Amino acid sequence: MIDQPQNMSCDEFQDRMAELIGSGENASAHPHIQQCALCRALLNDLETIAEAARQLFPVVDPPDTLWEQIESAIKQEDKPGPGDKSTKESTPVK
Ligand SMILES: [Zn+2]
Repeated sequence: MIDQPQNMSCDEFQDRMAELIGSGENASAHPHIQQCALCRALLNDLETIAEAARQLFPVVDPPDTLWEQIESAIKQEDKPGPGDKSTKESTPVK
């Protein structure tokens, strides 16, 4: 599939990088990354973003309900914390 990855240009590698990350491959083990500081830095950035995205969207094809889950998670963070008296209004389903 990948011919002589050592000779790959940055353009070629960056074309595949998102693919590599998206497929769960260890892109940092790629030969091009080993010898190219530029792409290594780029990969770092992308992985930080990908990691954050993974935590937000653990499933590949997020169902519509995911947004509701995110919304309620945000609402929970907004809550005053333990001992608040306003839980009567919107008691979370447990
Ligand atoms: Zn490169």
